[in-house]
Amino acid sequence: MTEKKKGRVFSGARPTGRQHLGNYLGAMKNYVALQADYDCIYCIVDLHALTTVETTENLTQNTFEMALDWLAAGIDPQKSIIFVQSHVPEVTELHTILSMVTPLGKLTDLPTFKEKARQQPHNVNYGLVGYPVLMTADIVLYKADTVPVGIDQAPHIEFAREIVRSFNYRYKTKVLIEPQMKATQVPKVLGIDGQRKMGKSLNNHIELAATPEETTRRVMQMVTDPQRVRRNDPGNPDVCNVFTMHKIFSPAEEVEMIDTECRRAGIGCVDCKRRFAANLNAHLEPFRARRTEIEQTPDQVWDALHDGARRARTIARQTMDEVRAAIGLPPGARE
Ligand code: SF4
Repeated sequence: MTEKKKGRVFSGARPTGRQHLGNYLGAMKNYVALQADYDCIYCIVDLHALTTVETTENLTQNTFEMALDWLAAGIDPQKSIIFVQSHVPEVTELHTILSMVTPLGKLTDLPTFKEKARQQPHNVNYGLVGYPVLMTADIVLYKADTVPVGIDQAPHIEFAREIVRSFNYRYKTKVLIEPQMKATQVPKVLGIDGQRKMGKSLNNHIELAATPEETTRRVMQMVTDPQRVRRNDPGNPDVCNVFTMHKIFSPAEEVEMIDTECRRAGIGCVDCKRRFAANLNAHLEPFRARRTEIEQTPDQVWDALHDGARRARTIARQTMDEVRAAIGLPPGARE
């Protein structure tokens, strides 16, 4: 019996350095799980980062730290391809080609572009406008048919599909694959301020690689139910970010106990947070041990990324040969 061909997943993330709980729950955990059912390609998109970064001083270190966290979390470079976007220059070639079939007006109308232009009015660069085209090139260069995204990112994938259709129609070909979105259930992870999405720039994050003591210190700073002022006030776990985290990291009986006891002031927030910190530290213990181990031989991180780039480039070159042939460009010279 022939084995059914696996689908191919592509996902990229900017090099943001050491990862935090929001990154873990929003992407990394899912990346690890998808390896069981798909051929996965995970890319650190350093070129995308250039559209917004103020300085590139830490780009290499951030790339290293992020890859280290991915490996420690269980992304297996034997199973999956992990690599750095700029190590496969064909992506910029495909980006240029796809930009010729993408209407400029559609790009400048996208809410994400408008939002970025609002956030950095001093730096509305061409890369910001072309961002969705580069993102499409990232996906289709590797013939990925599946892209795991949160529901809020569905319009990006739909736009990528439009660009692919436009290319295939223009050149009467089927060489580029329209990617499908794989909607992922991502819990809403708020920062320790309990208000905004967890993020480094807001300094409301909890790093996966932090020490248990630092983790506990950050957890103890977490904002709880704002209506619960005194220890004797009953609380409402439904509006408390600590409780949301308990539901992810604590045993079911403990979650149930907190749900009941919080509502009748049977448990205080300090105790509740200590319990969460202990459960979180226990959960992260294997990750941290593995990270420390990999860190002893940093070359293995770069080796994994370079090997991934070689494998990604083999696919990329094949796609570009097909793309050039479909357009009618002269075939590229072989090295
Ligand atoms: Fe939140 Fe726990 Fe305090 Fe209840 S006891 S408000 S769930 S931190």
